[in-house]
Amino acid sequence: MNTRQTGFVPLTRAEYDSLSQKLARLLGTQYAPVIIPGEAILGIEAIAAGIAAPGRKFLNIVTGPYGTLFGQWLERGGAEVQELRVPFDEVVTAEAVEDAIAQFKPQAISFVHAEVVTGGSNPAAAILEAARQYDLITVIDSVSAVGGEELPIDAWGADLVAIGAQKALGGPNGVSAVAVSPRGWAYIASNERAPRNSILSLLDLKPPGEGQVFRVPPYIPTLEARALIAALEEVEAEGLEQVIRRHERAAESAAAGLRALGLEGWQRDASRRSTLTTTVRIGTKDRLKIEQPIGIVAPGDGELRGQLLRVNHFGAYASREGVETAIRTLANLLEVDAADAVEAVRSVWEART
Ligand SMILES: *Cc1c(COP(=O)(O)O)cnc(C)c1O
Repeated sequence: MNTRQTGFVPLTRAEYDSLSQKLARLLGTQYAPVIIPGEAILGIEAIAAGIAAPGRKFLNIVTGPYGTLFGQWLERGGAEVQELRVPFDEVVTAEAVEDAIAQFKPQAISFVHAEVVTGGSNPAAAILEAARQYDLITVIDSVSAVGGEELPIDAWGADLVAIGAQKALGGPNGVSAVAVSPRGWAYIASNERAPRNSILSLLDLKPPGEGQVFRVPPYIPTLEARALIAALEEVEAEGLEQVIRRHERAAESAAAGLRALGLEGWQRDASRRSTLTTTVRIGTKDRLKIEQPIGIVAPGDGELRGQLLRVNHFGAYASREGVETAIRTLANLLEVDAADAVEAVRSVWEART
């Protein structure tokens, strides 16, 4: 008998199936998602590589840095890409998307659902509705929306959706997923340029159909996969709806705290703010120009450094304590008393059970 205590047991079939089923349930899809053996950005790059080809036209909506990157990957694959770009303190409107579709006549459309970097949230349901009228293939980066907003993939008819667990779901970032509809698979399979025998190949990772099994199961980082199963069990125990409500509550409380501190949100339309991060406009408040994160209060990324601060109230920090601590941090930076702002957070948090 092997009595070694350090023995490593690779992911079992039962664990793989359990992970696959939990992900499908979370995403409201009857189709087994692709489990990506790496962080979410790998799944996003794999989507771009799988769908891009010369002669294929994409409308790529850019409301933050991940959208820019996705467009570059589509172009690398030889696709013709039309960008619909807005300033990063806004998101798109469904009307603008519909106009762009009517003009450009793409085969597919891509967008980031919720933007943690800018604190905005695109109107996903309305964009998909517009795309459906033109029968487009739809690609969504929902890495930071999952767990913070509704994401009923089959009901929406979304074709390729990337998700990660390390934002709202409080899980690991070493394994992620891409949900693919049958139409999405057909769009990839019919692309000669889609990678095969490659780390970027979704086709290589395609889950077996009903009654079939992987000939050779793809490698999934075992410890991360187990951590993801554990995180999804926690989400199921709390209830996905409740996890989403908790993020909404955190965002509304944070907004109340900002108002009490006399600070302005970075996103101009308050109704289109992400539930995961609240972004603060720095403007002339030089005291808010920090170099390093202080708890969940972080400087802006890339070109947004010096223009906004991010309050990352997601996952375990989507809590009253998480938001209060962040508001105290902002008050400290401003060198003002925090009491009223903390009270504002508390009263909104409590009013919205
Ligand atoms: C965090 C994030 C990613 C990247 O996820 P990683 O796990 O860091 O690769 C991609 N898109 C969006 C919208 C994100 O918020």
